[in-house]
Amino acid sequence: MKVERVAIVGLGLLGGSIGLAVRAFAPHVVTTGYDRNPEVREAARERGLADTICDDPATAVADADLVILCVPVGAMEDAASQIADHLRADAIVSDVGSSKQSVAEALARALPDHAIIPAHPVAGTERSGPQAGFAHLFAGRWCILTPPSGASSDAVEAVGSFWEAIGAKVEIMDAQHHDLVLAVTSHIPHLIAYTIVGTASDLEDVTRSEVIKYSAGGFRDFTRIAASDPVMWRDVFLNNRPAVLEMLGRFTEDLTAMQRAIRSGDGDALHDLFTRTRAIRRAVIEQGQDDDRPDFGRGPGA
Ligand code: NAP
Repeated sequence: MKVERVAIVGLGLLGGSIGLAVRAFAPHVVTTGYDRNPEVREAARERGLADTICDDPATAVADADLVILCVPVGAMEDAASQIADHLRADAIVSDVGSSKQSVAEALARALPDHAIIPAHPVAGTERSGPQAGFAHLFAGRWCILTPPSGASSDAVEAVGSFWEAIGAKVEIMDAQHHDLVLAVTSHIPHLIAYTIVGTASDLEDVTRSEVIKYSAGGFRDFTRIAASDPVMWRDVFLNNRPAVLEMLGRFTEDLTAMQRAIRSGDGDALHDLFTRTRAIRRAVIEQGQDDDRPDFGRGPGA
């Protein structure tokens, strides 16, 4: 089957970017959009985030062959329940949530009679809301699909082709494995950034103005991540609890090993780790996942 009518529920960074990407890269696809916040709907109309912005979820999903839920992971079940009685029988329901196991369970509870193909585009920024989206957010980025066992291969194919049409590369993964991989590549880095920025702002012997003034030493790169949406990230940690706690345990052991190396003056241990991590950075750039320019191309004086 081919996706021709897409309904987007939640018109923030992700939902808005999907709408704009469809308009730019798959203009044959017709979009409808809904957000529970009237101010967001108004902004979405002004920016043209979907062909039609609806004032209720029922109208938005009524004709859709693919519905994509773009709300915080803790709101997925509520958003799915609101559309349950208004979907076409053959509609596929998907989402963009950053954790997959708990979302898959929530969607299955709310929509027991529908094809559900959960998805996670690994693309984003620290901005949120209807002004934050842009058409090329997904270009060259991975979108991970986590179909439940027994999912229709036609439905998986249809959702995968949709993401490819708006620029993403598609990978299929088990939801549990997804949650473990993303805990280490995304969730723990966010937790570290939130923590280091919180620690710096709580210090008494270094003033807040010094922290900000000298932030180009490294701190400012953490502040970008730590500026991410509080609701979204609260929900990610509450919903991906087992994988985050597992990876956090590994991380704190490694951090303690670094603490020991510094205390005992073990320069070899520090040098070995810092050499291995440089190689990871090179691989990230080689695979087109970041900008090759030093300091992200910010230039002198930045
Ligand atoms: P966002 O910019 O905050 O947008 C979410 C929108 O959904 C808000 O306008 C919110 O309205 C609305 N909403 C909440 N509950 C709703 C409901 N029941 N029905 C309809 N609308 C509802 O968030 P986002 O960054 O786009 O994130 C959306 C999803 O994408 C999350 O699940 C997140 O995990 C995932 N994701 C995010 C990123 C990223 O970098 N941001 C990357 C990949 C995946 P209110 O303002 O009234 O709450």
